Amino acid sequence: MYYEVHTENIAARGHAPEIAQILRRFALHRRDGSAVVYEELAPALLPDFGEDLMILEPTDDGDYRWLHFGREIIRYSGASRLGQRLSGMREQVARFSADSFDQALAEDRPLYTVHRSTETVRVALWERLVLPTITHDGRRFVVAFSRPLQFREDLLNAVLESSPSGIVALRAIRDAAGQIEQAVVVTANRRAAELSGRPETDLLDTDGRESLTFLSDLSVWRRCLCAIDLQRADTLETSFTHDGTTTWLRVAIAPLGDGLLLTLTDITDLTVANQTLQMRAATLALEIGRERATRRALSEEICLREEREEELRRLAETDPLTALLNRRSFTDKANAAIAASEADGTALAMIIVDLDHFKQVNDTYGHPAGDAVIRACADLLLGQYRSEHNLVGRFGGEEFGILLQDCDLASAAASARQIQDALLSRAMPVSETLALKVTASLGIAARHPGEALASLTARADQALYRAKNEGRNRLGLADPLPVAEAA
Ligand code: GH3
Ligand code: MG
Ligand code: MG
Repeated sequence: MYYEVHTENIAARGHAPEIAQILRRFALHRRDGSAVVYEELAPALLPDFGEDLMILEPTDDGDYRWLHFGREIIRYSGASRLGQRLSGMREQVARFSADSFDQALAEDRPLYTVHRSTETVRVALWERLVLPTITHDGRRFVVAFSRPLQFREDLLNAVLESSPSGIVALRAIRDAAGQIEQAVVVTANRRAAELSGRPETDLLDTDGRESLTFLSDLSVWRRCLCAIDLQRADTLETSFTHDGTTTWLRVAIAPLGDGLLLTLTDITDLTVANQTLQMRAATLALEIGRERATRRALSEEICLREEREEELRRLAETDPLTALLNRRSFTDKANAAIAASEADGTALAMIIVDLDHFKQVNDTYGHPAGDAVIRACADLLLGQYRSEHNLVGRFGGEEFGILLQDCDLASAAASARQIQDALLSRAMPVSETLALKVTASLGIAARHPGEALASLTARADQALYRAKNEGRNRLGLADPLPVAEAA
């Protein structure tokens, strides 16, 4: 049990103003340091303070007996103990009281005590001023001023009113069939009124379903009824709008007798923050989606551009009529091939093909037919020199150049003969109904060590010129073939 015992600063410690007054009168009656005489003190205290006073006398067996029990003390404790023994009280209070009375008498000085009430329901703490006296015939009497220092309901009210949560106790009112027809508010703190949605109403004694806006929501009310019927606690979140402002509440429902205790927490800020966050997340997801789409479109655009550039590069390198290398890119690639063959010592040969009497084709069948023949010849050459080691280009008009890698004069001559044979054996398709047989003259040169492209081309060209001069439809060799090959 909680208690305090003080011998110093009593007047300052005492909560009731009477304590200082009584103490002063007690001091007035003390003479020469001897004990205060009861018969002198009693008339000075009883008329003014008697209702809050207890007077006790020690018994022979170490107990105390009440000689006076003030009316105010009866009021709080419920009954008079006049004539009873102190040991009749609850053990802890009896022991504490006896000890403090013993101390006051032994030390012959006033005591101020505070102790927890264990018997009186309403009182939480008592304060006492304990005064030692002596009677004319030498008996020791204890005079004690006794006052409630704190009431339990004050404590509870303070807790209730200082709570940041709204607290409402509801009592169920049932009809004859036992159905709950009303829930009357029996207790509510200020915060509950603020959170009721109708801050101007006094909640006490109202029907909670009318005064607490959130209870008019049928689903919330059903949860309350369930909590009462099943005697089980529950928690829910709900909202209501008052004067255009929406309030979000977390409602803790606890059964209380035939009713409920509701604890209301305002979670509006939390809910709004949560909703804002969710909205931001959604916006962010949208932006990320857009960003991804943009990036995809961009990468597609880049791919497209690369393809277009590649196509442009290809177009710049190729002859539009035949899709063979044009003269410029043939020259570039041939120079690179010559540099490579120079480095690794491989042989290179060139063949120049020029169709015979081509003017006549144009003159006889028209320029478009001539184009078709040029295209067909190009296809024939491409078919024969498919390998990436070989270069096939259109030098202009009906004249083609072929650079053969890793190839000597004899192999080049054999290859040129194959072209000639192919032209002799098949006609070039011009249209669905027309195919023309053409012949060609071919100039062939094998690269001399260290020879540049221009020289190699010139020698092949001269060989071609000779073939033309010798009657066309034949091969011209820039150098004589070795004896064995020529045979
Ligand atoms: P040869 O070579 O046997 O001496 O006689 P040729 O008639 O073929 O004479 P040459 O090679 O000097 O003339 C080529 C002709 O090819 C000249 C021109 O009318 C024609 N030609 C040039 N470019 C094209 C072209 O792109 N399309 C067509 N249809 N004809 C072209
Ligand atoms: Mg020509
Ligand atoms: Mg020609």
